[in-house]
Amino acid sequence: MVVAIDGPSGSGKSSTSRGVARALGLAYLDTGAMYRAMAWYMLDRGVDVHDPAAVGARAGEPSLVSTTDPDAPTIAVDGVDVSEPIRGAAVTGAVSPVAAVPAVRERLVALQRAAVAEVLAGGRGIVVEGRDIGSVVLPDATAKIYLTADPAARAARRAAEDAGRDGADVPDPTSLEATAASLAARDAIDSTRAVSPLTMAEGAVHVDGTHDTLDEVIARVVGIVEAAAARR
Ligand code: C5P
Repeated sequence: MVVAIDGPSGSGKSSTSRGVARALGLAYLDTGAMYRAMAWYMLDRGVDVHDPAAVGARAGEPSLVSTTDPDAPTIAVDGVDVSEPIRGAAVTGAVSPVAAVPAVRERLVALQRAAVAEVLAGGRGIVVEGRDIGSVVLPDATAKIYLTADPAARAARRAAEDAGRDGADVPDPTSLEATAASLAARDAIDSTRAVSPLTMAEGAVHVDGTHDTLDEVIARVVGIVEAAAARR
């Protein structure tokens, strides 16, 4: 069983995907973390992330290894665990231009398909989250979900996550505004890039989580996946 979950930033994809993987006993692959790790590598090496030729020329360099336990997913670049730094503001600001470079996508899509094949060969299924999983990476997925939420709900969620990471209980209003602007900027690049833009894949089911709790969204997606698996 392969479950593809795509959608814009802050739609609740990660929490939902991990919850669905746990509920169904599946592995979990966060492809956004792979693009973030690639952006982290470019920043670390001083590559200009707004120079597609420079980024493309070095896209083959880093070794990237993802682990697929939904309770503790990690990603390592050249053997160094970068799970924490890839969530910081520097990487978040650099990831969309890096992800728009064709050589980056070509390399990461190949790694993603290999990771999925390895899990399936071990007799397990997997939930894969990203932007182009149902449309490009795994068009034959058992179930495809396109998860969205209103921009205000997405910004509130993401700002609360960031505040929690910094040790605060709630985000201040300026960080909420900055988060909304950062999400809108990433959405614009992700949906208009030439290669594999964010789009609802053919055969995907649209789930809008704006008015639901996380548990409700997970339950809806589990229901969709079970129905799709029963039809196969
Ligand atoms: O999901 P997350 O917000 O961590 O993704 C970070 C960025 O990685 C996205 O804004 C997008 O530019 C890129 N991405 C992508 N294709 C994917 C997953 C993520 O282009 N399948």
